[in-house]
Amino acid sequence: MSELNHNLVRAVNDRRGFHPGKNSTANVRALAVLLAGLCICAIGAFSQSQVPNSEHGGPGEPYPLMPSIAPIGVSIGKYMDVQASAQGPAIDSAKGYRLQNLGSGLYMITDNAYQSMFLVYDRGVVVIDAPPSYAAHIPEAIAEVSDKPITHLVYSHSHIDHIGGAKSVGGQPVIIAQEETLRLLKRAADPNRPLPTVTFPDKYTLRVGSQVLELSYHGNAHEPGNIFIYAPLPRVLMVVDVVFPGWMPWRRFALAQDIPGYFAQVEEIRKMDWDTLVGGHVARTGIHADVDLQAEFNRDVKQAAATALKTTNPGVGLNPLDKDNPWAVFDNYIDRVAAQCVNTLTPKWSSKLAGFDVYVWDQCYAMEQSLRIE
Ligand SMILES: [Zn+2]
Repeated sequence: MSELNHNLVRAVNDRRGFHPGKNSTANVRALAVLLAGLCICAIGAFSQSQVPNSEHGGPGEPYPLMPSIAPIGVSIGKYMDVQASAQGPAIDSAKGYRLQNLGSGLYMITDNAYQSMFLVYDRGVVVIDAPPSYAAHIPEAIAEVSDKPITHLVYSHSHIDHIGGAKSVGGQPVIIAQEETLRLLKRAADPNRPLPTVTFPDKYTLRVGSQVLELSYHGNAHEPGNIFIYAPLPRVLMVVDVVFPGWMPWRRFALAQDIPGYFAQVEEIRKMDWDTLVGGHVARTGIHADVDLQAEFNRDVKQAAATALKTTNPGVGLNPLDKDNPWAVFDNYIDRVAAQCVNTLTPKWSSKLAGFDVYVWDQCYAMEQSLRIE
């Protein structure tokens, strides 16, 4: 049990008027609480007048001090406008994609929602990711600047929304990925995501003609196998689904499978030496200030959620009829923790990152859970 869960049990015990450790009876009772997992019933502390007035099974009153930003599952009248700082150059709708020259033969392709790259060398082209949303345009995009064949395909990670168009780029490229990506793709058995033919555990340097790509694995964060792709000549770093220039991360820190690992990777990207970041999403590339901002947001969410976990009293406002339902007791507590976290973040962050109101609840729920169990 984490320190926070200990604090939670202690807070409930304080409300119930007993203190584990004072005597052996109290210890037995404390142990019973622990063995019951999350059965933390503070109901005895409430009078009948505090019982929420709601239909059995129907929705109750909003929690006290509810944020003005609609919680998950409730429609929001109008989302906040997207800041200019989050926008990028427009897409030519006739083409369906935008090509951005990153320098030294490296190009980004984007539909302003997804981003991938290709690298031109003297005898061919290395394609890096193939999002299905525009993969059919990748050969056209390459043809704008080169008549060389696609010889290599690099997968940033296994997710279908970034490489599910691999088949449609054509040819018989050598496919390179981290070995965890191979494992996940074998399991997926998806004909649209052909298996990598070259894999590596930690580092792989791809040398083609006078061009170089440095691939490296920094452990699990977004998902196992997600790699850093660095092009040293144009000083471009591509890391997908971790930093979203100008924007909040996608919900739950972009579905990070390891949130402490995810926070560590944002810091790693921040400290690395590069000029341009390709994040795999949104309308523009990133600069160091974008990563600094996301790292600061991460620190603030962590602090806000940690404070809310420590200062929120379990059981307050819970219907006594639910006192023997530990899932309900915990849900009530966590909802109020998340509400406090959202309230703490809103004044500073609602105008700084686009989509703040879309995903702040998701980030707070993900953060409080990570702090309790990871
Ligand atoms: Zn992904």
